[in-house]
Amino acid sequence: MCIFCDIAQKKAPATILYEDDSVMAFENIEPKTPIHLLVIPKRHIDSINGAVEGDKEVIGKMVLVARDLAKVKGISESGYRLILNNGRDAGQTVDHLHLHLIGGEKLPFA
Ligand code: 5GP
Ligand code: ZN
Repeated sequence: MCIFCDIAQKKAPATILYEDDSVMAFENIEPKTPIHLLVIPKRHIDSINGAVEGDKEVIGKMVLVARDLAKVKGISESGYRLILNNGRDAGQTVDHLHLHLIGGEKLPFA
């Protein structure tokens, strides 16, 4: 289906940091900041545009998993940013919903 589906189904490798029945988090293969993780729903959702009412719980969980991983990575207090790109102008290159967790340095204003 897509590369993140393959990672979710362990058909493609990734450094997995968290996993439960509906959510997975792994290291970005090309980190843009010292800490750069991706949090995805295991089930394929194209983008936030493609999310439906029934996805509320998994989307909420993605945010809390990112928050918890920021703590694990030690950037909870120094600061971090959660980014959800939607569509080409925003820079979405993988059409499977994902939340970026970035930090570990002073981030430029966004
Ligand atoms: P987007 O630009 O769509 O918001 O973010 C996609 C992100 O996925 C990019 O930061 C890119 O580095 C990352 N990425 C793309 N392919 C892979 C992959 O196969 N494995 C991992 N771990 N990250 C990937
Ligand atoms: Zn997918």
